[in-house]
Amino acid sequence: MECLFLRYASRVVPGFLVVFVLSAGQTYAQSAYVQEGDRVEARFRTFRNQLDQFYRSLRSTVEQNAPSLLPELQDAPPQPVVFGYQLVPRISDSPAAGNAAPIASFSYSWPITQGYIDNEGVRLARAQQDLRQIGDTEGAGDPAVLLKLIGDYRNIVTNQGTIDQYIQYNRFWQRSIAQDRSRFDQMTKLYEVLKSGLPAAAAAVQQILGKPDVPSFVGIVRRGTERVLLRVPLYTDIEDQDFLAEAKQSIEGMWRATEAGIEYAIEVDMRRVPASQLYRAGTVPRRGDHLDLRAHTGRFPDDGAVLTTGAEATHSLVGRYVALGPGDLSSRTLAHEFGHLLGFRDGYIRGYQDLGERGFEILELTSVFDDIMTAPRQGNVRAAHFKLILDELR
Ligand SMILES: [Zn+2]
Repeated sequence: MECLFLRYASRVVPGFLVVFVLSAGQTYAQSAYVQEGDRVEARFRTFRNQLDQFYRSLRSTVEQNAPSLLPELQDAPPQPVVFGYQLVPRISDSPAAGNAAPIASFSYSWPITQGYIDNEGVRLARAQQDLRQIGDTEGAGDPAVLLKLIGDYRNIVTNQGTIDQYIQYNRFWQRSIAQDRSRFDQMTKLYEVLKSGLPAAAAAVQQILGKPDVPSFVGIVRRGTERVLLRVPLYTDIEDQDFLAEAKQSIEGMWRATEAGIEYAIEVDMRRVPASQLYRAGTVPRRGDHLDLRAHTGRFPDDGAVLTTGAEATHSLVGRYVALGPGDLSSRTLAHEFGHLLGFRDGYIRGYQDLGERGFEILELTSVFDDIMTAPRQGNVRAAHFKLILDELR
């Protein structure tokens, strides 16, 4: 599953309107991308139940024949990802990936997701067969054979997590496409031009997308010849203090650069706002609730950015908020999302293809790999980012 490029999610452009662009008489529930998503997700749940059964069989075989290996066997396969209010992701380290091709494209769809589930189903069936075979022979007590099966199980569990994120990602972006077809039509045209590989086109796109629209709440604490420090007020209703400390450390660790003897850094000024304060005149959302994120983030003070929860897939609104999904979040992706709060747009292009009854195929294209905003997987924060911000704040 290492081919999956989904350890990040992106922003919703400013001015994004929640308009349901559906043909007459069609409702959200009847849309092809929703129905197809439900069908694929049902397949995924069936697969997960089969994996759970395999885990139980494997565990009892290990218990009977080689109990010393039990610590090698992790817990049962996790439940499918649930998204909702106050559910925070796990932040993981993300070393820069190696050099990629000059232009890399990625695509996501229900048929592709189905393909991954089918592949994992084949691997699981093979492991089940191996387990049945050793059950009939002396090999059941052979630690090497059991260790291999435990390894197979672990790999399948890891891929299960990735597919689960993939499902959330498709849900979120296919809905975004359905709701804002005209904007995605424009992006798709841009995608085609970029894909044609014209260097001039890539440069032009880069120039337009690269300039940040820096919000007025971004402050300059220090602007010396040796050190430049920016402060970003970040309001949050997240209750998990450990997560907040980790997020602050991660963002500040990634958002730094040195060039020509000048050190550039960011200070995140985390400001807690309890949900009870945001919802003084209404019902306070509870853990696990599904929220209207635009309305929810609208309740926060506007002299700072917002960090909140409740998204299916982590995404941002430029200059305003980062909404976290429950799927694992790499520190690089978190830094990318934070870049949106500083006013940067995505440096990559997201278009789509209409697959009719099978929903939409989401198409993504990256052409610059050393920039955190164009390549959330391997890009870096550079002094250039800070200089662009300083130019805007001048
Ligand atoms: Zn983004």
